[in-house]
Amino acid sequence: NGLMAKYHLHLAHLYGDLLNTYSDVGNIIALQYYAKQMDADIDVKVISIDNDFNPQDFDLALFGGGQDYEQLVVSKDLPNKKAGIDKFINDGKPLLAICGGYQLLGHYYIGADGEKIPGLGILDHYTLSQDNHRFIGDITIKNEESNQEYHGFENHNGRTFLGKGERPLGKVISGNGNNGEDHTEGAIYKNTYCSYFHGPILTRNGEIAKKILLAALEHKYPDADLSSQKALKIKPTF
Ligand code: GLN
Repeated sequence: NGLMAKYHLHLAHLYGDLLNTYSDVGNIIALQYYAKQMDADIDVKVISIDNDFNPQDFDLALFGGGQDYEQLVVSKDLPNKKAGIDKFINDGKPLLAICGGYQLLGHYYIGADGEKIPGLGILDHYTLSQDNHRFIGDITIKNEESNQEYHGFENHNGRTFLGKGERPLGKVISGNGNNGEDHTEGAIYKNTYCSYFHGPILTRNGEIAKKILLAALEHKYPDADLSSQKALKIKPTF
């Protein structure tokens, strides 16, 4: 009847009840908005401290940003989720990690008070602190593989340094990015996209939403003809 979508995706919102500042949940709304144009719908489940994370139950995931205190709370639960998140990422399922979530995918984050917050260590970056300062403001980057420009707003204490197997989401054109030093912003590893962008990133940069959705659809429906999904035109929103 034209009302039912052809494709169905399940999204895990990792620690969505704790890491939920900065309107990162808008990324889910943006994914649902673009999914609809791709004949797909997305249901959402928050996976938090009390829940198991079974990677086979989900097709895509969001790991949002938060304050240092909530990151510390989440950090203590990460060992329970590590095997599942590792499998999800290394199977090539798409994950979007913003700011605090991005930091927690790496080895550790030194919080603003100097406390070391252990991460998952699934991606090879680490994050240092800065004294009495945060990177706050508008930011523009360019992804050098696609030549796409991405726009956002950053607000972070952490200074992240990329490691093995990671390439940046983009080169900083204006703003600070990962660390204010090496002109990189964010990270890409397989189909995991990491960024310091709030705004939220996907509402302003639909091209990234499209990449994430295509990765999820290709993974779940390997035999589907996704040519019309690939042809979807994203209108710039900035
Ligand atoms: N608390 C972390 C920092 O200040 C992450 C902030 C965020 O998620 N925006 O770097």
